[in-house]
Amino acid sequence: MPEEAVMNKFYISTPIYYINDVPHIGHAYTTVAADVIARYFKEKLGDENIFFLTGTDEHGAKVSSAAKEAGKEPLEFANSIVPQFESAWELLNINYSYFFRTTDPRHEKIVGVILQKIYDKGFIYEGIYEGLYCEGCEKFLTEEDLESGKCPLHPNKTPVRQKEKNYFFKLSQFRQDLIRLFETEEVKILPESRKNEILGKLKSEDLKDIAISREEVSWGIPIPWDNTQTIYVWVEALFNYYTATQFLEGKQKFWPADIHLMGKDILWFHTVIWYALLKAAELDLPKKVFAHGFFTINGEKMSKSAGNVIAPKELVDKFGADATRYLLLSQFPFGSDGDFSIEKLTQSYNANLANGLGNLVSRIAKIAESSNFGNEVKIQDFKELSNVFLLTDEDKSLSDKIENFTLLEGIEYIQNLINRINQIFDQHKPWELIKSDQTNELDSLLSECIRSILEISVLLRPFMPKTAEMIEKQFKGPKIKLLSPLFPRIK
Ligand SMILES: [Zn+2]
Repeated sequence: MPEEAVMNKFYISTPIYYINDVPHIGHAYTTVAADVIARYFKEKLGDENIFFLTGTDEHGAKVSSAAKEAGKEPLEFANSIVPQFESAWELLNINYSYFFRTTDPRHEKIVGVILQKIYDKGFIYEGIYEGLYCEGCEKFLTEEDLESGKCPLHPNKTPVRQKEKNYFFKLSQFRQDLIRLFETEEVKILPESRKNEILGKLKSEDLKDIAISREEVSWGIPIPWDNTQTIYVWVEALFNYYTATQFLEGKQKFWPADIHLMGKDILWFHTVIWYALLKAAELDLPKKVFAHGFFTINGEKMSKSAGNVIAPKELVDKFGADATRYLLLSQFPFGSDGDFSIEKLTQSYNANLANGLGNLVSRIAKIAESSNFGNEVKIQDFKELSNVFLLTDEDKSLSDKIENFTLLEGIEYIQNLINRINQIFDQHKPWELIKSDQTNELDSLLSECIRSILEISVLLRPFMPKTAEMIEKQFKGPKIKLLSPLFPRIK
C-alpha cells in the first residue's frame, strides 16, 4: 500500500454520539473498533502522530425535548449525559485523543465562519421546506423513505408534516463531482458493497437540495446571517471532524481525516452530504469512510421498548474490559450485519479466552515455574519485541488486516497462532520432560513457547491492551510465576 508507506500521521474518528440516549453496545462497537485501529497505528507511527476523535452531538430538537422531560436546560442536560459516555469509554479502555462536544463555543464559532463562507459563495439560498420530519432521526424524510407511512428506524414515531422557511444547500450541484470522487476512489467508501450502494443511489436518483437550517429549533448554532434560524444539527455536527483539528493546539496537521468510522445508517450523510459541504467550503477531503453493519440482540432489533439494550458496563462487569473488546469484534466480520447474545459471547469467552489464550499463558507459566526456567540469560532475547509489527512477514499480514479494517480476520489470525502454540505444547509433553529430567529439551521448548506468547502479546496490544501488558510482565521478569488466570471461566 504505497499510500500508507508515505503516511506519517493518522486521524480516525467515530461519529459523535447523540445524547438523547445513554451509551449502549452499539456505541461501544464502533468506538472499540476505532480504538483498536488507533492503537495499531500508535504502535506503527508513534502516539504523537495519531489523532483519535470521539464525542457527543448535543444540539437539536430531540435533545431539547429530552432535556425538558428531565426538567433541565439543554446544556445542563448535556452536561449530565456526557460523563456517562466518558466513563463508558474509560471502562472499555478507549484511549481517544480528545472528547468532542458540539456545544463547545470554539466549534460553534468555526462552524459559523464556514457556513458564512458557503453562503457567500452562493451555495445557500432561502426557500420553503414542506415535508415530513422524523424527530427520532432528526431528519427530513421523503415519501420513498417511509415504510407503511412510518420512519423505518422509528416505527413508533409518526413523522410530522412541517412547513417552514429554511435555508437550502445546493447539494444537487455536486452530483457529478461526488460520483467522480467515489468512483475514482479519490475518496474510498468501504466496504465495497457500501460504495456501490451510495454510487447506485447517486446515479439513479435526483440529488435534491437539502434544508440546512431549522426555524422551529432554537437549541442549536444560529445561522450567522439570520439569527431566527439555527443550523440543522446534522450539518453542524459533521463539521466536528474538522473544527477539532482547528481549535485544538497543534492538531492542524491531522486534517484531512484518514478514516471516518460509523454505522451504515449514517453513511449517506457522511459521504454525499459531508463531502459536498466540504467541497463547497473548499476544505480538503477525508480519505476514507468505513460503514460497519447493524446487529441484532438474540435475533431482535435492539430497542428500549424491547428491553434488550445492553450497556457497556454490563459487558465489562461480566467479561472484563479486554474480553469485551475482543468479544465485540469477534462475533461477525467488521462491515457485515450480525447478532450478539450474552450466551454466544459467554461461549466464545470460554472457548477462545479461558480455554485458549488464558490457558496457554497459565500452562507455560506453570511449567516454567515448576522447572525453575527463567534465568536472565535465557529470557534476555525477549526484551526487544516492541516493534514486532514491522518485523516479519507474518506480522505484516496482521498489519494488512487491520489496515484493511478486516478486524475479525485479524483476531482469527491471532487465535490461530494461539491454537498452534497450544498444540505444540501438547505434542512435546513438557510435563514428561520434567519427569525424565530432559532439561535441554524442556528449556528449548519453553524458550520457543515464551518467545511465541510474547510475540502474540505484541499482536494483541491493539485489541487487548491490558492483557498484552500482563503477559509481557509475567514472562519478561527474572522469575516466571504462575499467576491467577487471565480469563477465569464463566458459567
Ligand atoms: Zn426516524
